[in-house]
Amino acid sequence: MCERVLNDAAFYRLLLRVDQDMAAAEQRQRCRVCGAALHVGHFARKPRGVPAGVGEDYRMRFSFCCANRECRKRRMPPSVRFLGPKVYAFAVVVLISAMRCGPSPRRMRELQELIGVSRDTVARWRRWWCELLPESRFWRGAAGALMPPMDAQELPASLLERFAGACPERLLSLLRWLSPISTGSPAVHAA
Ligand SMILES: [Zn+2]
Repeated sequence: MCERVLNDAAFYRLLLRVDQDMAAAEQRQRCRVCGAALHVGHFARKPRGVPAGVGEDYRMRFSFCCANRECRKRRMPPSVRFLGPKVYAFAVVVLISAMRCGPSPRRMRELQELIGVSRDTVARWRRWWCELLPESRFWRGAAGALMPPMDAQELPASLLERFAGACPERLLSLLRWLSPISTGSPAVHAA
């Protein structure tokens, strides 16, 4: 069952390692505006829905800042842990949204209580998946290549089904695939 991942600290630590790799790759590049080196400008967040035992370093959102004082352009590497400014962990936003149509209403309530997410929040996520994400530039480019075309009304369950393997592997593949949008513009994440 996919929901077991929600309580799997090892899975979340794996996500942290993926983010560390993507951050290291980002820092090896230089500032895209002026070409100067990038300095570390990480900051702490308070992600909700993360299981106990994951560790404090999970909270750090990796970020870089151009070393050139005249520029100071911030560069955010993509993330599989944080989805824009959303306070719940990216994996939680995916799995709870995907389960919306799956388990019984009672099971869904239990899950929401386990994670501590309100019905209104799940409804906002639903709008994000079905209305805002399909309108994003990332989606129009990346999803346009998927065959058969993706049914936006079934997101993110329909997207999870496109990846191979057991649930943790599919979830990780989905998070990696969507990670470019994790840094996204406020418009994409407004709701
Ligand atoms: Zn710069």
